[in-house]
Amino acid sequence: MIKTRGIKPKLVGFLANEDPASIKYAECTSKTCEETGVIFELRKCNREELKDQIIEANEDDSVHGIMVYYPVFGDLQDQYLQNVVSVTKDVEGLCQICNSYQNIPYLDEEQIKNYIIPCTPLAIIKVMEYIRVYNSVLLYGNRLHGCVITIINRSEIVGRPLAVLLANEGGKVYSVDINNIQEIHHGTELKLKTYEVRITNLKLEEILPISDVVITGVPTPSYKVPTALLREGVIAINFSAFKNFEDNIKEKASIYVPTIGKITITMLERNLLKLYDRQLSLKNEE
Ligand code: NAD
Repeated sequence: MIKTRGIKPKLVGFLANEDPASIKYAECTSKTCEETGVIFELRKCNREELKDQIIEANEDDSVHGIMVYYPVFGDLQDQYLQNVVSVTKDVEGLCQICNSYQNIPYLDEEQIKNYIIPCTPLAIIKVMEYIRVYNSVLLYGNRLHGCVITIINRSEIVGRPLAVLLANEGGKVYSVDINNIQEIHHGTELKLKTYEVRITNLKLEEILPISDVVITGVPTPSYKVPTALLREGVIAINFSAFKNFEDNIKEKASIYVPTIGKITITMLERNLLKLYDRQLSLKNEE
C-alpha cells in the first residue's frame, strides 16, 4: 500500500542556458513532479540575473529545493554559483561537494543529517547497488573492494564526485577526461583514510579490458567506446545524452544501462524530501 503524507514540497529550477539537454531534463522533471505531487516551478532568466534570483529563492520560505541547470557560464563562475545556493535548499548537493571529496558523511556532530549526494552520481550508485556491483556482505567503505571501474568524464557535477564516492567504497577507479587518466583508490588493503589520486600512464586501450564497470558521459554523438576492448561480462553504464557505446554493446556486456535520466529525477525528489523534512524539523525547533 502506498503511504501519502499529504505534503506539497516545492522545487524551483533555474534555467539560464539554451542547452537542449538541460531543457529536456527540465521538461522531464516537470512531468515527474506533476505525477508525484511535487510543485515544480521552472524559472527562466538570463545568466547575469541568476545570482540574485537564487538569493531570492534562498530567502523564500515557500521554496524547499533549488536546482540550477549547468553549464551557465561554463567556467569557474559556475562553481561560484553552486555555492550561492543555500545548503538547506540545494537538491543537487553541489554546494557541499567537498564533503564527498573528504569522505565526510554527516553534516552534524550527532551524525543524523547525512549530506546530500549530487543526483546523477547518486542515481548511478543506486543502479550499481541494485545490480549487486556493491558487495553487501562487506562493510560500508569496502563494498567495492576488488572492483575496477572506468569513468569517462571528469566534470565537477558528475564524473569527479562519482569517482571519489566509488573510490571511498574501496573501488579502484580510472577517471578519464580529455587531458589524462587518473587512478583513484584507497590503497592496497584499503589502508588509506581517504582516497589517493595519481596520474597514470596507462592508456584507455589498457584499462578498458581490465574494467569490471565502464561508465561513460562524453557529450559528443561521435564518441564511442570500442566494444572489442571491453571484457566479457562488463557492466556498461551510459549517462551521456548521446550513446557512448557501440550498437553491439549487448554482445559483450552482462548489463547495459543506456540512460540514467529517470533515476536521476527520482534522486532529485528523494533529496528534496530530505531537505523538506530538515526544514520542517528546524521550524519545529524554533
Ligand atoms: P561536461 O562538458 O562538463 O564534461 C564532459 C567530460 O567529458 C569532461 O570531463 C571532458 O574532459 C570529458 N571528455 C570529453 N570528450 C572526451 C573524450 N574524447 N575522451 C575522454 N573524455 C572526454 O559535461 P557534463 O555536464 O558532465 O555532461 C556530460 C553528458 O552527460 C552530457 O551529455 C549531459 O547531457 C549528460 N548528463 C546526464 C545526466 C543525467 O542523465 N542524469 C546528468 C548530467 C549530465
